[in-house]
Amino acid sequence: MCGIIGYIGNKSAEIESVNLLKNLEYRGYDSAGVAVILDGEIKVTKAEGKIANLEQLIVSTGANIGIAHTRWATHGKPTEVNAHPHISDNNEWAVVHNGIIENFEMLKQEIETNSGVKFASETDTEVIPQMLEYLSTSHQSTISTFIHACNRLKGVFAIACINKNIPDTLFLAKRKSPLYVAINNDEIFVASDPICFVDKANEYYTLEDDEFCKVSLNCVEFYDINGNNIAKSTIDMKDFEQFKGKEQYPHFMLKEINETPTVLNRIMKTYRDSLGFGKITKEVMQDINKIVIVGCGTAYHAGLMGAKYIEKFVRIECNIYIASEFIYSNPIIDKRTLCIFVSQSGETADTLSAQELAKSKGALTVGLTNVLYSVLAKKVDIVLPVCAGPEIAVASTKAYTAQITILYMLARYLQNIKFNSLFDYIAQIDTLANLFTLPNLQPIQDLSKELVNQKSSFFIGKGFDYVSAEEASLKLKEITYINSSAHPAGELKHGFLALIEDGSYLFVIATDEALLDKTLNSAHEAFARGAKVVLITQLDVDTSKTNFVYKVLQQPKFDDELMPIVSIITFQLLSYYTSVAKGINPDQPRNLAKSVTVE
Ligand code: GLU
Repeated sequence: MCGIIGYIGNKSAEIESVNLLKNLEYRGYDSAGVAVILDGEIKVTKAEGKIANLEQLIVSTGANIGIAHTRWATHGKPTEVNAHPHISDNNEWAVVHNGIIENFEMLKQEIETNSGVKFASETDTEVIPQMLEYLSTSHQSTISTFIHACNRLKGVFAIACINKNIPDTLFLAKRKSPLYVAINNDEIFVASDPICFVDKANEYYTLEDDEFCKVSLNCVEFYDINGNNIAKSTIDMKDFEQFKGKEQYPHFMLKEINETPTVLNRIMKTYRDSLGFGKITKEVMQDINKIVIVGCGTAYHAGLMGAKYIEKFVRIECNIYIASEFIYSNPIIDKRTLCIFVSQSGETADTLSAQELAKSKGALTVGLTNVLYSVLAKKVDIVLPVCAGPEIAVASTKAYTAQITILYMLARYLQNIKFNSLFDYIAQIDTLANLFTLPNLQPIQDLSKELVNQKSSFFIGKGFDYVSAEEASLKLKEITYINSSAHPAGELKHGFLALIEDGSYLFVIATDEALLDKTLNSAHEAFARGAKVVLITQLDVDTSKTNFVYKVLQQPKFDDELMPIVSIITFQLLSYYTSVAKGINPDQPRNLAKSVTVE
């Protein structure tokens, strides 16, 4: 969350920083700001809300060094005063920050008491520039002041900062939040995500935790936590897919849903050609007696689906945890546990903490992530690439589809190992990838218009379909703000039937023939209380069984176990069109952001 930028070069620092910042808007859009050094003074421009508001205010002043920020507020309301960059009381330092400074109250009190400085904002971040000013006199060099100040911070941070007396240099620090540096002959770029500078540079670096960097056009230096110079190698960005923007699509979300067939093809090729699960050998699995999957939000739902696949096909205990709960639940894991961490960005703070815990207990850790240069990818023993390509819309779509596809393949792979079978899951996914088409849009768009005025909706399913119901419900609520909930079909009469009233929409996912009748029984119970039942199925259901159904969203036919990969697309599209019909920007739903780098 929060995107940070740094820029030094021959172009306008304001314009270039803000242009780069636009690539990071998925990380937060509460406010945006930019600071440059002009004629030895720091000049700050800030605006509440989206980057477009900031863009209207900036003018090119001729400054050639700047820092910029797009905010997802953690501490302090999303106001202009709380927008970054924050500056020190003496206007010497300007700072942008991604993360949370956990001990900011204590540090603020210390600074206010000892120096008389008054803080201007409610943010945790402001403690950083004020601390820099507070410590400046007691340190010999600017970099040692910077390192010393950062070492007093507890919590999570990526920081970019400028000092008006050193107008050619950016100071950078990182602990847990991501930070990248790119250098070419006459420009320096700094960003939370390298998506900002693909093709712009010829040297790329990533900072590791508790590393610091001082960078100007003629010199880049890295330091450890003690202020010692360290040598760093450049990172290879060749795997980074060209980021082409929205192309012909009105929103990233629609583009990303439409990329599903391409993603399935890429998965199939990656897992076929590079042996995919090759590091999870038979020998490795002989020592494993339990699998645990950990994730948050949509990645948690992918984990739920994965656990069902694994228990069904591998017949091994598989537990699933929400990452933020895993850390505090003293989970029963040891060196015989295989722990799979699912995170699109590979930067999800709770998931990273969970991985650390699992590692400390001796578990074998696997990361299922879309970003191969992410912290998660670096920390786990084995990486499984999600292969979805950059996902920018806040609501995950193609990455979820990819995650459940890979977890399905993993379950089949482990089944082959365990039972000496030769199930050809690659051929099965190859067929799916080749025959896959997006559903007919008309009925989905028609239904989306009906949902515009709904306050609530309900989703049910059994088995795999129940997990799809959870993900479908999350998609709808995060981008349409319709209060929705998902339930195992059998749970209806144990509570939430009380919420059903005349005209309530009940989405019934029924793609498993064996569970169809029981699922329809539950739907009947809701229909009897006034629900409008929308059935999602690929099965040829006898019309005598569905005469109470309001609408059917017919799905293409694939093997039963692949239907979760197919049916979720209908809900992604339904949520998308409902969001658009309500006048919401589906890429940037209120209060949310992507890449959740704070716990
Ligand atoms: N804690 C800072 C703020 O609220 C940064 C938030 C973030 O990185 O998400 O401004």
